[in-house]
Amino acid sequence: MTKLVIVGVAGRMGQALIRESRLASGIEVVGALDSLRSGRIGEDVGEIAGLPPLGLSVSADLAAALKAAPDVVIDFSHASGVPTTLAACVEHGVPLFVGTTGFGPEMSSAFGAAASRIPLIVAANTSLGVTLLVELVRSAAAHLPADFDIEIVEAHHRLKKDAPSGTALALGAAAAGGRGVELQDVAAWARHGEAPRAAGEIGFAVVRGGDVVGEHRVIFAGTGEQLILEHRATDRAIFARGALAGAVWLAGRAPGRYTMRDVVGLSSV
Ligand code: NAD
Repeated sequence: MTKLVIVGVAGRMGQALIRESRLASGIEVVGALDSLRSGRIGEDVGEIAGLPPLGLSVSADLAAALKAAPDVVIDFSHASGVPTTLAACVEHGVPLFVGTTGFGPEMSSAFGAAASRIPLIVAANTSLGVTLLVELVRSAAAHLPADFDIEIVEAHHRLKKDAPSGTALALGAAAAGGRGVELQDVAAWARHGEAPRAAGEIGFAVVRGGDVVGEHRVIFAGTGEQLILEHRATDRAIFARGALAGAVWLAGRAPGRYTMRDVVGLSSV
């Protein structure tokens, strides 16, 4: 039995994690955290997730939840809360799966330092399809000539806070990696006005609206042909299932930085 603590449990993903954990075998949610500001502290996590009561209430006391020695913590909260979760997991020696997005590159060194002490996965997208898409994009960027322009278009629901999505950034990083460059050196975050497209740019376009769960399209636009790689999520349960699989995989590992690629056993294409 893998014992999990979920941070951000009252949110859309937190609720999906509770529902999917009830369908999976070998998983027990032993701690449910959210922020005081959520107004959900003390509520039963089952009722929040649209299930019968589960006898576990939402708490804001992460340290107390970690003292119960869970096997893994899963964080789907907000970027501002991730440093606190990370520090607490390191202090208590608990493996951490971060699904939260929206933090900047300044977290890289903190994640690196933490991974020398605990097993850690930071995954901007936990779906099987996107895990594979990242590898396909890396391969396409590596094999197509440099005059194929790379553009990334993503769409999400109207409430999503960060933009571009963490998945779009991961796809951009994979495309840049395939070309042997750093994303920050070639990214074009927004286009407006009269500046033409610069050679070698990787452009990002963001759509927000309605209840779109998540769409990512990577366009390799050449002269006379286009290669388009696209993923569409229609149910956020896929992210919850991927995160739970990742958490189970992470339990009991040696300290280190792992990826969803490791979880699904994907070899490089
Ligand atoms: P949401 O706003 O519905 O839920 C976030 C929850 O976290 C809320 O209940 C909020 O009160 C809580 N929270 C905020 N700050 C907190 C803190 N410091 N400590 C504890 N709880 C805190 O958002 P969501 O749609 O569930 O998404 C959550 C995060 O997961 C976002 O960053 C989103 O981009 C990311 N996400 C990742 C994937 C993936 O596959 N990795 C998929 C979907 C969403």
